Amino acid sequence: MHITNIRTGLIKIPLRTPFKTSLRTIDHITSVVVAVDTDANISGIGEAHPTGPITGESLGSVRGAINEFMLPRLKGKEIQNLEDTLNTLDASIIKNTSAKAAVEMAIFDLFGKKFNIPVFRLFGGFRNKIETDLTISVNSPEEMARDSRIAIERGFRILKLKVGLNPELDIERIKAVREATGPNTVLRLDANQGWTAREAIKIMNEIAWEIPGIELVEQPVEAHDIEGLKRVRDSITTPVLADEAVFSPVDAEKIISMGAADYINIKLMKTGGLRSALRICSLAEMHRVECFLGCMMESKISVTAAAHLACARSIITRFDLDSPALCSTDPVHGGVEIDGPWLKVSEAPGLGIDQVDGIEWD
Ligand SMILES: [Mg+2]
Repeated sequence: MHITNIRTGLIKIPLRTPFKTSLRTIDHITSVVVAVDTDANISGIGEAHPTGPITGESLGSVRGAINEFMLPRLKGKEIQNLEDTLNTLDASIIKNTSAKAAVEMAIFDLFGKKFNIPVFRLFGGFRNKIETDLTISVNSPEEMARDSRIAIERGFRILKLKVGLNPELDIERIKAVREATGPNTVLRLDANQGWTAREAIKIMNEIAWEIPGIELVEQPVEAHDIEGLKRVRDSITTPVLADEAVFSPVDAEKIISMGAADYINIKLMKTGGLRSALRICSLAEMHRVECFLGCMMESKISVTAAAHLACARSIITRFDLDSPALCSTDPVHGGVEIDGPWLKVSEAPGLGIDQVDGIEWD
């Protein structure tokens, strides 16, 4: 089964409510969909959601990286010779992690279809069902309290609050949500690099007394500030999760060896795909550092690939794969089955995606 072509297209899915973090606000998911075609008349599917402020990519750069660098080198490559094909993809261009992730997941989809095995079984098959949190956008304390109540009514037990816009108001936001949800809801905080180390330490120590039951705080400081991240971790009792600070296995190695975080958030759009994500899992397993599996504002195509990875490995213990739940429609037939906070992967080969409506092919 040889690669004959790689096609790209766009998909646009409206969100239930605008998604706001300390870095950006969006009201649609817009992603590049990738189809890797073969001479066996089977195609694999993938998705890149370029998040400019985090990975430095755009819809145009993803398509450029694929058409100019990946396609010419991958044409004619044999799917069953997976190592050679993935090495070629990796070497075709540096960075461009979302573009790589999209092409790579399509290749794994094809590999699974060829050998009739679902991707999560290929990687370990630890379980077939996971529970995701739901993200609450950063807004006024009242709006965040209201959105949290709606999330609980939808069946979500774990909420991730976006904070990091204004330290004083952030404490009010967290208090308002805690009051609105009661003590049984698990709260995660994600500052998206919005605080300084000093601010993070002050806020987290203050709320440790006033607001019990915060499970963790994610990426309190700027991505490059590993020393600051470690200082925060050493100064607070709440566990720290590294997100934007970890793209590659080398980043993960540095964080783990410095003891700069308690957990690592793996996202396919940062790692450049599943193989690199598996390397982070192996590293984390050796050091017993539990991992998160997160996503950008992706559609169910790449979230299906992420769910397969999340189900495969036991070192991944927490899941933040909520972007399909934030959408008002689902154009993806097949793939991961979503029921409130529960995501279930099927035994269908590859990623198990049958069809996607509304793709505008280039
Ligand atoms: Mg994050």
